[in-house]
Amino acid sequence: MATESPKDEIKRRIDVVAYISRYVPLQRSGRRWRGRCPFHQERHASFYVDAGSGLWKCFGCGAAGDIFTFVQRINNVTFVEAAEQLATEVGIEWRPARQPDDRARSLRQAVLRANEMALRFFQEALQGPEGAAAREYLARRGFTEETIARFEIGYAPDDDQALQRYLAARGLSPELAAQAGLVHSSHRDMFVNRIMFPVRDVTGRPIAFGGRALDDAEPAKYINSPDTPVFRKGETLYALNFARAAAAQARRLIIVEGYTDVISLHQAGIENVVACLGTALTREHLAL
Ligand SMILES: [Zn+2]
Repeated sequence: MATESPKDEIKRRIDVVAYISRYVPLQRSGRRWRGRCPFHQERHASFYVDAGSGLWKCFGCGAAGDIFTFVQRINNVTFVEAAEQLATEVGIEWRPARQPDDRARSLRQAVLRANEMALRFFQEALQGPEGAAAREYLARRGFTEETIARFEIGYAPDDDQALQRYLAARGLSPELAAQAGLVHSSHRDMFVNRIMFPVRDVTGRPIAFGGRALDDAEPAKYINSPDTPVFRKGETLYALNFARAAAAQARRLIIVEGYTDVISLHQAGIENVVACLGTALTREHLAL
């Protein structure tokens, strides 16, 4: 049997409807899914995604393609950059590292894969028995199931080894978990008994996490990932991946203070809103 190419493996493993839904709300329409085209302005939905073939097409502007061309167009990146992002999503490497600059790139890819794994772990924990109190908190905040899924909100259990065990069981080295900012040098998980808000960059890569303490007696109410090879706090706006299209249409980007405020506003239909990570708005923020 011939070896499957990375491109074919990505196409086979990626959930195209779930992926595109991060950018375009989709509704089922017969055998396909339908939404408003992200590539031209329209009132009526003429953008279709076919889960079976993995292809998408807009009958308004004629744009069409597969998941690779979707990522290229929506994020304005090259084919290789799109392929690397998608490879990270499904947990494979787009190409083996050989040169020194490839090794730095390879470390960034590995950190992103570690973050993607941690994100799934936090999501699973939120839905499990250990996540009951966290689910109650989110319900009190008025977050719907759709919002929790869209923002990929999770829960870091009250066990400072839980994430390490999960990552180790999936072959992730302790060194990499530390480099990704998921585990302290003291071998405790970075996030313990916290509601978890994954931070994706504008191109959708999982670069960091914010964690809100579930226990109100905890002095550090919010903590963020430390700086890592893929994350620099002073340069990141939370939810920019969700807000970018709406901000471009409204010609205005609103910056608020916290994760939960951003999510509440998006849920209320005000989507050109982001939050500033860190304490101050920096020049890098404004340049975005
Ligand atoms: Zn279109």
